[in-house]
Amino acid sequence: MKIGIFGGTFDPIHFGHLSAALELKEQLRLDRVHFVPCHYPPHRSHPVASGKQRIAMVTAALADEKSFVADNRELLKESASFSIETIDGFRQEYGNDTSLYFFMGMDSLLNFTSWHRWKEFLNVCHIVVAARPGATAPQEDTEIGRYCLTHQTTEEKTHGTIRIFSTTPLEISASKIRKKIIEGSTPRFLLPESSWSFIKEHKLYGYS
Ligand code: ATP
Repeated sequence: MKIGIFGGTFDPIHFGHLSAALELKEQLRLDRVHFVPCHYPPHRSHPVASGKQRIAMVTAALADEKSFVADNRELLKESASFSIETIDGFRQEYGNDTSLYFFMGMDSLLNFTSWHRWKEFLNVCHIVVAARPGATAPQEDTEIGRYCLTHQTTEEKTHGTIRIFSTTPLEISASKIRKKIIEGSTPRFLLPESSWSFIKEHKLYGYS
């Protein structure tokens, strides 16, 4: 079995997330992809949607795509989890024969060496990176650039490689969507219609 894990704030989920996830799933022939919204660190600026609201938007957005799973495992915990702890949890749950693929956008890869226990990720999963406008692939003379080069084997394994994929670059971000809403513009067509309806119904992100 091959499983994708897509962690994020998803505040709100948008077509940048969904399109990248679908393309990665197809290129890697994964059985399914778990979308795992994280807790907010207490210092993060407000206003932001609550965990309940974010998982509700994720659940509605994934409803049509059977291989996508809205997974609230991090929100069920009392406090924020580190991604490596979540991936360890997947490994324990699925055992050693399942291939795990942790998804991230290029912007996340560029600061990956600052993540908690970052060198341990490849002991547990593969990392797959989607293109993102505004973030170019790391230079070969940087720590993360060298790390990518030395962990590229295509040999079929359950973990241990880091690969960059040329997914369709979509210049969409949750912050851009929130900004549009505060400014009174419509973010329609940047995110699923269900998310936009939810935002309006719950007057999120300053919608009025
Ligand atoms: P914000 O603008 O609030 O920072 P975001 O749009 O970057 O949010 P997150 O939920 O923080 O969304 O992102 C989760 C993951 O999805 C990250 O690894 C990020 O790089 C990736 N991602 C987000 N938007 C895109 C996109 N348009 N294309 C590819 N990857 C993306």
